[in-house]
Amino acid sequence: MTHILFPLPDPVLVPVRGETAAYAVRRIFCVGRNYADHAREMGAEVDREAPFYFTKSPAHLTLSGATIPYPPGTADFQHEMEFVAALGGAGFRVPAEHAMALVYGYGAGLDMTRRDLQGVAKDKRRPWDTGKDFENGAILAPLTRAADFGTPGPQSITLRLNGNIVQQAHLGDMVWSLPEIIAHLSTLYHLAPGDLIYTGTPAGVGPVGPGDRLLGEVAGLDPVELAIGPAA
Ligand code: MN
Repeated sequence: MTHILFPLPDPVLVPVRGETAAYAVRRIFCVGRNYADHAREMGAEVDREAPFYFTKSPAHLTLSGATIPYPPGTADFQHEMEFVAALGGAGFRVPAEHAMALVYGYGAGLDMTRRDLQGVAKDKRRPWDTGKDFENGAILAPLTRAADFGTPGPQSITLRLNGNIVQQAHLGDMVWSLPEIIAHLSTLYHLAPGDLIYTGTPAGVGPVGPGDRLLGEVAGLDPVELAIGPAA
């Protein structure tokens, strides 16, 4: 047995409603521009050619209920409320009609974004990493098993900032449905248990600052809660 020089922290463990075992996170995939009204507010049109993705490091995932420091390097830290699928099955080149069999459960999540850094990256045709993939950049509520939730579609998705609704839509408003996303993503990656898919955000994204509180709800799921503290 080879000893490890600098042992890594354990993977982030997400609680599951009604389950004593936890869900270990392996990878985080995020879908870009998956609600037409959000694409529009970002100055883009929805591209029906294919969905596109960026990733976040699993080490950057923080569980719901946390207070996170205002992150470094930004003056425009923004919220994106998202419906998250947690995979429990493996698959490669999975047809859409079989894609939902890979889903273990669902959670309410926040794709936190350093919008100014993302904007510079877009302008200069650089990667989005520093705008999207940073410490505490992904937030996730406890999961609900897929069978206890039903088929995504009619459920509302809502985000409150300090009690006021700022984002509201229905899961059926997504440009690419979850089975379409899984089918397409599985042409690019060998999907496996522990993979999370953040499915995109509706319109109404905006800045948060120290002292702000976010409460995100998807009907039928545990809410995601986040408080923003002072800069670290
Ligand atoms: Mn997003």
